[in-house]
Amino acid sequence: MKYLGITLERPKIGVFSFTGCEGCQLQIANKEETLKDLFGVVEVVNFREISSEGRDDYEIAFVEGSITTESESARVKKIRKQAGTLVAIGACACLGGVNNLKSRFSLPDVVKEVYGTHPIDTGPVRKVKDVVRVDIELPGCPISKPEFEWLVRHLILGIEPQFLQYSVCVECKQRLNSCVFDMGMMCLGPITRAGCNAVCPRNRLGCWGCRGPAEEANFESLMEILRERGFSEEHIAERMNFFNAFGGIL
Ligand code: SF4
Ligand code: SF4
Ligand code: SF4
Repeated sequence: MKYLGITLERPKIGVFSFTGCEGCQLQIANKEETLKDLFGVVEVVNFREISSEGRDDYEIAFVEGSITTESESARVKKIRKQAGTLVAIGACACLGGVNNLKSRFSLPDVVKEVYGTHPIDTGPVRKVKDVVRVDIELPGCPISKPEFEWLVRHLILGIEPQFLQYSVCVECKQRLNSCVFDMGMMCLGPITRAGCNAVCPRNRLGCWGCRGPAEEANFESLMEILRERGFSEEHIAERMNFFNAFGGIL
């Protein structure tokens, strides 16, 4: 492949799934209009959702999902050994994500309630970086395809990706959205990292924090505002802890 007359490598990639809904992988497989271009610049050697190919000579591994069993832990360690670059994709991989909701309950009780006596292998929810070294984290639930493509461009060109540091509020205001706070809804936009184009507020929904904390997020100030606006402690805690994005600050 040539870009501006320079020959570029076409890296071999693998996309791997752990505990999650596979929605992030689906994002990669979506947006057909750019799929041909994407697969022109990378060689997919392992991606169960779209291909029966299953080679282990990948150079970049994209890892979706959190790590919740010992067998997953062993598998992600094996992937880490092979991959020159390991990218955690999505809130489950980067934060624990919605899977972490099970941490609120006693694990044996939950397993019994859902599966009865059927044997289930499940343990505490771990972020990928709690188990292996992660080079880059691509946030979101699900990840955004344009942001994935932006990251792939950086990886191919060997440029360090610089993620936005400011909050969702900034891009929400840039798009002249009406603030959902003024409609009586809760929103974590003031403390959440931008990059999703404020898609939830744009659609009249409060932010749930799926992209994790923004740099210099002022938690205390937001807590004060939420309490002033009459949101209960339970409601605030439920929102803050939903994606496990804010380190259990409540
Ligand atoms: S981050 Fe969201 S979309 Fe991605 S695997 Fe987890 S639950 Fe699914
Ligand atoms: S809707 Fe949410 S993200 Fe948008 S300005 Fe209001 S608080 Fe910020
Ligand atoms: S607005 Fe918040 S919850 Fe919605 S996609 Fe963006 S970061 Fe995630």
